[in-house]
Amino acid sequence: MKNPILSIIIPCLNEEDSIPYTVSSLLNILKELEQTNQIDSNSFIFFVNDGSNDKTWELIQKFNKETNGKIKGIKFSRNFGNQKAIIAGLFEADKYNADCFITVDADLQQDENKIREFIEKYKNGAKIVCGIRNDRKTDGIIKKITALTFYKFMNILGVNIQINHSDYRLVSREVVQTLKNFPETNLFLRGIFNELGYKKDYVYFDVKPRKYGKTKFSFFQLYSLALNGITSFSLVPLRMVTVVGFIMALMSFCLGISAIIDYYVFHSTVSGWATIIVAIGFICGIQILCLGIIAEYLGQLFQEVKSRPRYIIEEEIN
Ligand code: UDP
Ligand code: MG
Repeated sequence: MKNPILSIIIPCLNEEDSIPYTVSSLLNILKELEQTNQIDSNSFIFFVNDGSNDKTWELIQKFNKETNGKIKGIKFSRNFGNQKAIIAGLFEADKYNADCFITVDADLQQDENKIREFIEKYKNGAKIVCGIRNDRKTDGIIKKITALTFYKFMNILGVNIQINHSDYRLVSREVVQTLKNFPETNLFLRGIFNELGYKKDYVYFDVKPRKYGKTKFSFFQLYSLALNGITSFSLVPLRMVTVVGFIMALMSFCLGISAIIDYYVFHSTVSGWATIIVAIGFICGIQILCLGIIAEYLGQLFQEVKSRPRYIIEEEIN
């Protein structure tokens, strides 16, 4: 088997502080892997500038010149979000005949020294190698709890995602070709790679604290990523709406029967409005919650029906 051409894909949003360190670190790793005959010397790094408004793109251009094209990249016309940046990276880097692709964050919080292990597993036949975090020491308490709840909830809903799965992963060219057949605008990558099948393997890694800059994810972005994951992979919440509705209807029916019995048999008077108010409030709450769940799916459908382009590339350097 000839040595694979490796493409390292890096989504970036305002990462001017991290990029110089990331570039030098990854170039060293590529050099070592090339010298030890693990990968082809045409391997390259591919940046996706996801609408940064700092010097990120200028830096990518500068490194492109200095390395004679070993560092390539594209620039989005605006911010499209990290998932779209990763997809764009995979699809666009595919033009340069890469055999396998590793996606990693620009801050290199994910241990870049594990790249060797990813390549080994790929050479042993895995088409998808998923990076799994050993722990969540570097996350704040709220992120820890919400992330864990999300993974547990997804598993309950029947979506099989490994806990602490990350977007640090290797995929083969074949997998990228297959991914091109999934036209949905809102791709939740951690879910989709599970759906594809293919031989999988795992690499366990430690997450380091961020060296430069701050996290680029707001709470709202994480929330919408999680919701996207749920609504694009599970119909269970919709079914739950039906079940809840049915139970509520049954309860109201029983309540009605007991009221009639009270009136005709026991001649007891209505026991005050508090109970009624509570019951009405409760039922209204459930109804609005159910409407909310349906609206989430409707929103998902709305976006998919429009089938707008996932991203817009404004500039490209190779
Ligand atoms: N990122 C991106 N677009 C966004 C948000 C983030 O391309 O809208 C990139 C970011 O530059 C980084 C990666 O996604 O390379 C992960 O972001 P970050 O390190 O801020 O997330 P955290 O590690 O805090 O979860
Ligand atoms: Mg990070």
